[in-house]
Amino acid sequence: QAVPRPGNESVRGYEASSPERAALQAEITRQSNQIVEIPIIVGGKEIRTGKLAEVRCPHDHSHVLARYHEATPEIVDQAVAAAADAWHTWSELDYRARASLYLRMADLLVGPRRYRMNAATMLGQSKTCHQAEIEAACEFADMLRFNAYFLDQLVRQQPVGEADPGVWNYLEYRALEGFIFAVSPFNFTALGGNLAMAPAIMGNTIVWKPAETQMLSAYYLMELYKEAGLPDGVVNMLPGHGPTIGTRALAQETLAGVHFTGSTATFQHIWKTVGENIANYRSYPRVVGETGGKNFVVAHESADAEALVANLIRGAYEFQGQKCSAASRAYLPASMKDAFLERYLAEADTVTMGDPTDFANFMGAVIDERSFRKISGYLDSAREDPSCTVMLGGNADRSVGWFVEPTLVVTDNPQNRLMTEEIFGPVLTVYFYPDAQYAETLDLCRNTSPYGLTGAIFANDRLATEQAYRALRHAAGNFYINDKPTGAVIGQQPFGGGRASGTNDKTGLGSHLLRWTNIRTVKENF
Ligand code: GLU
Repeated sequence: QAVPRPGNESVRGYEASSPERAALQAEITRQSNQIVEIPIIVGGKEIRTGKLAEVRCPHDHSHVLARYHEATPEIVDQAVAAAADAWHTWSELDYRARASLYLRMADLLVGPRRYRMNAATMLGQSKTCHQAEIEAACEFADMLRFNAYFLDQLVRQQPVGEADPGVWNYLEYRALEGFIFAVSPFNFTALGGNLAMAPAIMGNTIVWKPAETQMLSAYYLMELYKEAGLPDGVVNMLPGHGPTIGTRALAQETLAGVHFTGSTATFQHIWKTVGENIANYRSYPRVVGETGGKNFVVAHESADAEALVANLIRGAYEFQGQKCSAASRAYLPASMKDAFLERYLAEADTVTMGDPTDFANFMGAVIDERSFRKISGYLDSAREDPSCTVMLGGNADRSVGWFVEPTLVVTDNPQNRLMTEEIFGPVLTVYFYPDAQYAETLDLCRNTSPYGLTGAIFANDRLATEQAYRALRHAAGNFYINDKPTGAVIGQQPFGGGRASGTNDKTGLGSHLLRWTNIRTVKENF
């Protein structure tokens, strides 16, 4: 029997005075009152270098949550050796055994480990309960289950042609020969999980470098894997300094692939390094990456203003704007300006920001000082640029945590840097275009940014929708009609974009797994 097609895990509400709220609250308190010591984990063994770095709470940066041991280049070599050892048994294992392990892991995650993962994500990455629940619990469980399902489908649907009489043809989905270097960002615990676990389900073994600012949830992911029964050495976790670990990992002759989510600059650097080392590798490494975005929302004059405002606010400010897919630039008809601003400012007034563990705030803090400074630089630039008017927010406060106000900027220069560069924070910039220039505005939108991740059109006029659908074909890998450009669901809206936004291998689609397999064609005469 096949692995059944999974449904999406339902998002829990954690209502006040519910038992689930109490359980999560207790876990938050427990994690707040301890300092976890996070080891390097290689071949299932814990390594302590004694060179420690701190994980601090973004919304209360004097609060140390954990200390992690930083990996050295020699430890990278050990991790590669451990991955190679584990590869022999893991890659030879029947695919059903891997699939069933993933299903079990998903159940464990959304069962007994749900509160631990959510609390770690709320404290360590400053996410609200809802944000953590959506991704650290539900989305990662979906990724695990759908990967099991997709793998099973792949093996069953042998897409080879009719055989001649006496001939049997089939494909074998082998693991890549070598290790996969997975590099994950801070903004999604689920991505930390999937960047390692998607290649692993195909029989690959992994050297995983989580973002320094994701270390708390990363450590608990390793505990989850162990508890679910993942063999030692399948995923080896190396906390520490990116360039130190990356340089050594990319120099290994057994590098078989890179699975990356993070900045465009880092991905380009990785690709370049792979290129420089290409003659030293045993095989051509698969390089798969999802990078930045400058995601757009275009509204036509026929758009429903209420839906537009609500979706812009959610698209721009949920997750503190620290989503690759966040709404970041909008092109709205000039005739809508006054009514739009009035509605937007009234609705944005209800957006609360603060300690996300209080279960009341809509937004937490941005991840760290580096991020805070970068976003603050854009706020300064909005204030100083005569083509920009800050209509909402525009301030940042670092006294307790890295807080940046939800901000709305209106500009009359659509080429302004706030309209073209990725900010990765809660800042939305709007350009009001003359209503008669809808077609030109679609061209402007398409050509203004080097990215191609997500985007949305709001229109009730079906011809206007079609015009945008066509004109913006290559401007976004995920295109939304009358919806915000964020919140892709595994198995429903496979996620990813092209251009400078990545290789668009689409998380949450079966074909993604093909990047992590080296197909053997077998022809047998019987
Ligand atoms: N998949 C997420 C979404 O659709 C974004 C993931 C990311 O930020 O990398 O909103």
